[in-house]
Amino acid sequence: NSEQIAKNFEEQIKMHGLDEEVIVERTGCFGLCALGPIVIIYPEASFYSLVKPEDIEEIVKEHLVKGRVVKRLLYAETVAEDRIKSINEVNFYKKQHRVALRNCGVINPENIDEYIAFDGYKALSRCLTELKPEEVIDIVKRSGLRGRGGAGFSTGMKWEFTAKAQGDIKYVCCNADEGDPGAFMDRSVLEGDPHSVLEAMTIAGYAVGGSQGYIYVRAEYPIAVKRLGIAINQARAYGLLGKNILGTDFSFDIELRLGAGAFVCGEETALLASIEGQRGMPRPRPPFPAVKGLFGKPTLLNNVETYANICQIINNGPEWFASMGTEKSKGTKVFALGGKINHTGLVEVPMGTTMREIIYEIGGGCPNGKAFKAAQTGGPSGGCIPGEKLDVPIDYDNLTALGSMMGSGGLIVMDEDNCMVDIAKFFLEFTVDESCGKCTPCREGTKRMYEILDRITKGKGEEGDIAKLETLAKNIKNSALCALGQTAPNPVLSTLRYFRDEYEAHIREKR
Ligand code: SF4
Repeated sequence: NSEQIAKNFEEQIKMHGLDEEVIVERTGCFGLCALGPIVIIYPEASFYSLVKPEDIEEIVKEHLVKGRVVKRLLYAETVAEDRIKSINEVNFYKKQHRVALRNCGVINPENIDEYIAFDGYKALSRCLTELKPEEVIDIVKRSGLRGRGGAGFSTGMKWEFTAKAQGDIKYVCCNADEGDPGAFMDRSVLEGDPHSVLEAMTIAGYAVGGSQGYIYVRAEYPIAVKRLGIAINQARAYGLLGKNILGTDFSFDIELRLGAGAFVCGEETALLASIEGQRGMPRPRPPFPAVKGLFGKPTLLNNVETYANICQIINNGPEWFASMGTEKSKGTKVFALGGKINHTGLVEVPMGTTMREIIYEIGGGCPNGKAFKAAQTGGPSGGCIPGEKLDVPIDYDNLTALGSMMGSGGLIVMDEDNCMVDIAKFFLEFTVDESCGKCTPCREGTKRMYEILDRITKGKGEEGDIAKLETLAKNIKNSALCALGQTAPNPVLSTLRYFRDEYEAHIREKR
């Protein structure tokens, strides 16, 4: 649909002789997925939503030729009685602060000049000409940035460990294997602003002494793969990747590696094994990748959203970044809002924003006036947060204390109609399917947990099943080899913590 809309615009604009004055730009996602396809007409930034190819003739004739907005197609929240409101004034956007998503939906991701016009490659230039590698690491450390892929480890410390590791060659990798059901923030950055990742990886290469980068990206993201390929070629042509970058003696290049869809390949050691051409299975740590990673060499691995913050930190300073967020979780976080919520889409808010603000003020609450019941954060390995915790500020530590986790930022909303035992079963089924089978607790233990959940939801639960679930969960958490297994019981444990009565009712009432 979107491509047809763009083509119709080009045809209509030509037909009306406006092709000297009006440019049609294809951008990445603007976040409000529930209202796509979206067309924004500048300079006034009129925000047309749910646009269809057959609407374009009217938009061109009315808006571009006669200068009158087509009110019926404008996003309803932008239409006030006396004026058309800016998109930044509407509920979905006014509490957002777009750092990682700053260019998504704004620039043409296939045009490096547009990226450069929005301060692109300024941070790299500053690093190479004004800063020593250790000063770059110091800036990243002082910003307080923590890894946005799940674990939340200090990014600056990771960079420092890799810089200090000994090796004749060092690698810089990007985890773009976004596998959580319902998470699409990395996809949006790659499709909408691929140069921001390339620039940050090149800065990381300079900081840690790396000379080769790899982006491990899901093959199921064909637009992201295509745009990354275009961006890499453009950066090489502009002397921003390859030998002697910007005329300095620093050389760094990036290649793509496509993942074949295994969820476990998002785990860092499995990802590196997959890049090496081996079966994507986790390896015991230590040694950590910073010391012995890809091909046995020191390797820095960050995810897409983490890299998407780096250039802004260099350009605006670590104090600017650290001024956003909570004491131990600085900056912003992108969440993918999905499930039973009116405004499905991507939102980026300062750490410390409450779940209530995200779900009600930004997300517009549950559809059809239904009551909110719980939100699953952190993907299939996360946990369900109930309504009574909606006012807890969201950051890494608070989510962990609630029995969930930040994960990559998936946020799936459940309403009063959802059975929480079914939800736990749904997520556990996913991890059972995706377990790589290397270690027994995860391979066998999650299957046994699934069997118990299955019989409970079919009205065949037995007394003692809840205790068995808890024992299995504890043992799997303590003994599985990698994070996939260690966190797989979380949906069961968190629903038992907050919705135990639903488990008991299934067993008692045999329903
Ligand atoms: Fe594989 Fe699961 Fe063990 Fe991880 S915990 S190594 S996914 S079997």
